[in-house]
Amino acid sequence: MKKILIVDPVHEFAINELKKKFEVVYHLHPSNEEFRYLIKDVDAVVLRSGVKINKDIINAGKRLKIIARAGVGVDNIDITAAKEKNIIVFNIPNISFSSVAELTFGLMLSITRKISLADSQLKKNIWRKSELYGNELNSKSIGIVGLGRIGGRVAEIAKGFGMNIIACVKDDSFERRKALKELGIEIVSLQELLKKADIITLHVPLNEETRNLITKKELMLMKNNSFIINMSRGGVINEKDLYEILKNNIIAGAASDVFVKENEENPLFNLENFVATPHIGAMSYESQEQIAKILVKNIINCSEGKDIQNRIC
Ligand code: NAD
Repeated sequence: MKKILIVDPVHEFAINELKKKFEVVYHLHPSNEEFRYLIKDVDAVVLRSGVKINKDIINAGKRLKIIARAGVGVDNIDITAAKEKNIIVFNIPNISFSSVAELTFGLMLSITRKISLADSQLKKNIWRKSELYGNELNSKSIGIVGLGRIGGRVAEIAKGFGMNIIACVKDDSFERRKALKELGIEIVSLQELLKKADIITLHVPLNEETRNLITKKELMLMKNNSFIINMSRGGVINEKDLYEILKNNIIAGAASDVFVKENEENPLFNLENFVATPHIGAMSYESQEQIAKILVKNIINCSEGKDIQNRIC
């Protein structure tokens, strides 16, 4: 192992430590053409969610041995193509869940209490207090779709706000239902969750099963005073359908940290009942520093033929 290509921003600890052992090429967000060129002579690629690595690019990596995902979701990596070439893929999933869960509540408070709207009005010296009534979280039902690491932490925080928790899970075995009931979480179907919850929050991975999980049909099931938040991946909610629903005030509001196309304008940004952040769920100093440490350790261990954490293939 000699050369490492980093294509998404990572904590400077990782860059400095990797530079001590390897030649590091730091080229943020390359185009597909640039990526195919840059990958030709590198042994490892480090990426987060901002860059897609498809079969074509993987095949161009003649010396490629490692694809390191400095975070959770691996929907941007062609795992099948990596497997075919015996390339090691790993992610770092156990670190940023608190960071993402906490931002979920940031967005939740922002849409329910109109914080972003109030802030943008006030900075233009517009004082319209009477238009800024909001909803409390206390005693409201939160509907969590996907109760893994992030969804689980959201449930814990929701308890502190005095919320009732309902959730839709993939594994709804008797044992799991029972265990979750003891934690005060009721398991329901997606349809029931959409109908009952005051605030819905999405924490599933993006895959063929969850792409367009929420379309107009599902949004129409929601109460007209309810809110929906997407913290998972763009594409889990159909953005065109969400736009139409929000534009016509069929639900009270929505927020999203993730978009089908990132680094681009989006019609949703023009709506007052929509709050957006640019995929910053895991962007806390604490998470990124820990991720950087594991990233460096894993790459060095891999280069020395030792076992690594969270190997996907
Ligand atoms: P996780 O694997 O711990 O949890 C995902 C859960 O979703 C699992 O329990 C799984 O069984 C469940 N699930 C899958 N399909 C489902 C379905 N159709 N219905 C109900 N449940 C379903 O993953 P995690 O660490 O909690 O992360 C979840 C996702 O959040 C990631 O895959 C990633 O896309 C996204 N994420 C976003 C950010 C961000 O910055 N916004 C950061 C990290 C992760």
